[in-house]
This record gives sequence, structure tokens and C-alpha cells, in this order.
Amino acid sequence: MEKISVFNNLTRSKEEFKPIDSNLIRFYSCGPTTYDFLHVGNARAAVVADLFHRTLKAFGYNVKFVRNFTDVDDKILETARKRGIHPKQHADEFIRECLQDYECLGMLPASATPTVSESMPEIIQMIQDLINKGYAYTVPKKDGSEEVLYNVPKFADYGKLSKIKLDSLQHGIRVETDAQKKNPSDFVLWKPAKPEEGWSWDSPWGKGRPGWHIECSAMAKKHLGNTIDLHHGGVDLMFPHHENEIAQSEAANGCPFCNNWCHNEFVNFGSEKMSKSLGNVITIRKFTETFSGAILRHVVLAVHYRSKLDWTEDSISKAIGELERIHEFVIHLFGEQKSGAADAGELLKVQKALVDIRHEMANDFNVPGAMGIFFGVIKDYNRLSKNGVDAQYVSAVIEIVNFMKDATGMVHDYPEEILSQLNIARKHLSGTSDTGDAEIETLLAERKTARDTKNWAKSDEIRNRLTELGVVVKDNPDGTYTWSFK
Ligand SMILES: [Zn+2]
Repeated sequence: MEKISVFNNLTRSKEEFKPIDSNLIRFYSCGPTTYDFLHVGNARAAVVADLFHRTLKAFGYNVKFVRNFTDVDDKILETARKRGIHPKQHADEFIRECLQDYECLGMLPASATPTVSESMPEIIQMIQDLINKGYAYTVPKKDGSEEVLYNVPKFADYGKLSKIKLDSLQHGIRVETDAQKKNPSDFVLWKPAKPEEGWSWDSPWGKGRPGWHIECSAMAKKHLGNTIDLHHGGVDLMFPHHENEIAQSEAANGCPFCNNWCHNEFVNFGSEKMSKSLGNVITIRKFTETFSGAILRHVVLAVHYRSKLDWTEDSISKAIGELERIHEFVIHLFGEQKSGAADAGELLKVQKALVDIRHEMANDFNVPGAMGIFFGVIKDYNRLSKNGVDAQYVSAVIEIVNFMKDATGMVHDYPEEILSQLNIARKHLSGTSDTGDAEIETLLAERKTARDTKNWAKSDEIRNRLTELGVVVKDNPDGTYTWSFK
């Protein structure tokens, strides 16, 4: 089997990927908190996890891929309370929306998608194990319930992933120390329920709910066992979330938790002033409805997962152009073509291209490297097919297309449909069919009238709506105004 290397953040180096079982990869990725529609920034973590999943499968591995949904969380409780519905109803609604987004992004289904609420027995058991082994302690509360905290200095390896030294950490957060914590860096495993929260579980420490970090340790153990091969999340999760997962799992299970930690970089929204045509497209849903899931997937994967991704009109426009080149070629390749004489040199070249593409994908999932070679193949094919190509050459090219499709998900079925999506997307990008802009213009005019007639309540209401659309309005002393996208 192909040698795969990944950049492992435990060692901060690229290493040969060696799964514990030669033919099964145990892979966990931290999923979203389902309190609202996902942001386009969340799309990167989701699609990168899908890339790992697909590439490993394309290399012939069986992959057990677990991605959780955090359905118990402060924001979920708060939003459900405002809506006057049960938190589970609210969280489940957004789990369904999230799965719809994932499908639209062309993601393969995970092997398991556990939720916190369904994993409560395993979470409580792990907290109990940590108390029994002396890594966690309880703090009594006035109402007789107890909070459970993880005793961070007790875990000697703390900081091994994030490379954060415990001493500096203890010092850094001294100011906001909770008096009942033994150490400033200790974190919550179980917190007592508040009556207004409306969702809690019985536990040995009274009614309550888990802290955030423990869920991933418990779910990974439940679905994948004590030691896993690969753990992924956004780079923002490395500390404290992943560091705390290691502390919990290794203390509770008495063995290493995960051999390879991979993190994707951020989506950078700040490098360019948000353009007009993108300014109000903030959620995956809005983006995929306005543009398409294939475009978003392409934007996200066109940049290596460990590089920053700039969210600009340019990156979207580039993705549209690349998708067009790929799918026009695919239509041609699978359609009728002129047959020609065999050319041994060209055949060798395309066979080598497949080897090189596989090599790039095995090299820390290097999509840009593989894409570069793929575009070379497309160029050669377009040139050669004018005079005719032989069947062996065509089947070698098809083999490349199939590998790119399996490993990256950036070559799509129904290429004609993709091309028509691209045409619509181009119109949106040039602003010729952007209804969002018309709404903004109307709101700005209505706000001006409200201000001129000193109807401040109305003017504030419109400003709030504009803020939701990502528009910032600045009033000048002379009664005029300017506006921009956030
Ligand atoms: Zn997690």
C-alpha cells in the first residue's frame, strides 16, 4: 500500500502515517455546535475532514470516520429558551440543516455522527474514572450538587500537543482564578444544572451537564477505542480543546490517545475589504444557494489545508474558472472522440502523471500539487484529442479522473449541471443578478428618510437589519452617510 505522510502536530513534523491496524484507520474529527446555520468558515474544517476521509479510502484503506455534533451547549440552551422550545428540538433542527449543507458540499457520510446527548452514559463513566484515578475532583455547590474539575498539573504530559508550558499557563490566567479551583488551569468536566436551562442529566454529582472537552474523549473511546490513528480539527481547537482531550483520554484509559493530530488553518476574512457580491453571503446555506456547493468545496480545497485561505472574490472567481476547465474536459473525455494512432511517449507521460498525482495526495494531502499535474494532463489531452487519441491513452486519462474524483471530490458527476451552475455564479459575482444589493439600497434609502423625519426607532431598526447583512453605515455631521461591508 502506498506510503502516506502527514504533518503531525504532536511532533510538528511530517511523518509516515502508520495506522495501528494495517487496514483500518480510526479517524475522529471535531464536529460543529448545532445552534445556528454553519458559517462558510466552518466549511473548511468539514471539507478538510472529508478530504482526509476520501483520500485514505482512495488509497485502499478502510476508514472508520467519526464526526460528532455538539448538541449540548450554552448557545443552544439560550437560543432554545428564546424560541420557547426544548433545546433538543432546536439542536436537532440544526443537525438536519448541517447534514443538508454537508451533502451539498459533496461530503461522504461519516461512519458515525454521535451527539453529546446520546453519549451521556459514556461521558459520566469517563468522568467517574478520572475521579477514581485521582485526575479529577469535586467541588460542592450551595444547592448540594457538585461541580467536577480536571486537575491539570496531575497530568504530567499536559501541553505536549500545543507546546504550551503549564507554568506560563498557570501564571497567565491567575487573575481570573475561580476560588474553588485547585489550580488556575483546571477545567470543568461536569457542571451543575441551572433551573432555567431546561435540559440536564442525572449523575453521581447531581443534575447537570458535561463541560465541552469531555464529550470528544468519551465519543472517540465509544466508537473507535482507546487509541486512535488520526484526529482532526481547526487549528483554533488545538488549545485548549485538543490538549484537554489528550489529558482526559490518556489519564482515563492509561494509554496514548491519538498518534497523529492534523489541523486545518483558518479562513481569512480580513485581508481584503469584503466585496459587495460576497458581503451578505456568510452562511454555507446562503453561499451554496447563491453560488453552489461545488464552488465552495473547490475554493476550500484549492489551497493546502495547512495554509491560510483568503476569502475573496478572486478565490471564488478562480474556482469557477478551474471547475469550468475540469468539467468541459470531462464532457469531452466521456463523449465521442476522434480516434488516432497510439503514441508511446504520450502514454508514458500520462501514466507517470497518475503516479505523480498519487504521490502528491499521499504527501500530506497536497491537493494543489495534484491539481497542478491534473491541469497538465487536461492541457495535453485537449491538444492531442484534436488529431485523435487511442483507446489506451483515453483509459489512462480516465483512470486519473477517477482517482481525482475519489480522493478530492473536486470532479463531479453531471458535468453539464456544474457548467450551468458556473454561469449563474458568474452573474452573481459580477453583481448582475444580486438581489442582496437591491435590498441594501432600499434599506439605506428608507433609513435616510427615517432620519430626516427624526424617526429614530425606525432608523435603528433598519440599521440592525443592515448589520445582519454585513453593512456598516457611517453618518456624517452634514446629514449625509457612507457605507461599507464589514
Ligand atoms: Zn473535539
